[in-house]
Amino acid sequence: MGVDRINPAQNASAPYLAPKELREWLASGKEFTLLDTRNDYEIRLGTFKNAVDMQLDTFRNFPQIASKYIQAHPELFQRPVVSFCTGGIRCEKAAPLLLEMGVKDVYQLEGGILQYFMDTDGEGYENDCYVFDRRVSLNRHLKPSTSVRMCFQCRQPVHLTPTPPQQQVEAETKDATENQQQQFEGQHEKEQQQQIEVEKNEVKERKLQAEGRRSRQVPPNKMEIDSSLQCPFCSAFKVSASSFASLSSSVRKQSSL
Ligand SMILES: [Zn+2]
Repeated sequence: MGVDRINPAQNASAPYLAPKELREWLASGKEFTLLDTRNDYEIRLGTFKNAVDMQLDTFRNFPQIASKYIQAHPELFQRPVVSFCTGGIRCEKAAPLLLEMGVKDVYQLEGGILQYFMDTDGEGYENDCYVFDRRVSLNRHLKPSTSVRMCFQCRQPVHLTPTPPQQQVEAETKDATENQQQQFEGQHEKEQQQQIEVEKNEVKERKLQAEGRRSRQVPPNKMEIDSSLQCPFCSAFKVSASSFASLSSSVRKQSSL
């Protein structure tokens, strides 16, 4: 489908907008449209404030989805449009496509969100940036998020942080602030402990793989069979560290930034 036939070298290319310029545009209150060209599951972890999310399931569908979206919301495309993605690669295709579709004033964010994080204070961007490797998401300081993992089955990013159990909520309303603080810290410690366990398993797994051996299944008691770690999208339990590892490398091969 459409995207592959577009060779950016042979088409009118959209001018780059440097991250610092975008930062200035945002601070100045200039009227323009920020168009997120990433997939819906990436956008869910964070994007620019007021960015347009076209609910793309895959970049392959960009031509059809964008063209419908432009027809449905012409006012958003009658002013400057800044397209952006993770590292700027998808915009090399998306921005010329927008020009072909008749959008007059298109810019592409140079180096994408990651360059924006590097060159500016990150202001204007909300939450994290999804990345196609085992780190899953980075914050504006380019530090991996410790609370997000990728589901080995459906590939959705999943927050490790469980929602507070009902009983805790009830206790909090009854007790004093001091008590709340203790409970919060206890919960936090438990999450950190879970995270350490996951990472220990990953290290073991990598060691085994390096030695050319396939590891046995992690014994059930070591698996995180914990309802708080069940994937909310496909109901799989996020258990095996090896699944994360093999998934991450296969995703990296298939996807570009
Ligand atoms: Zn899942």
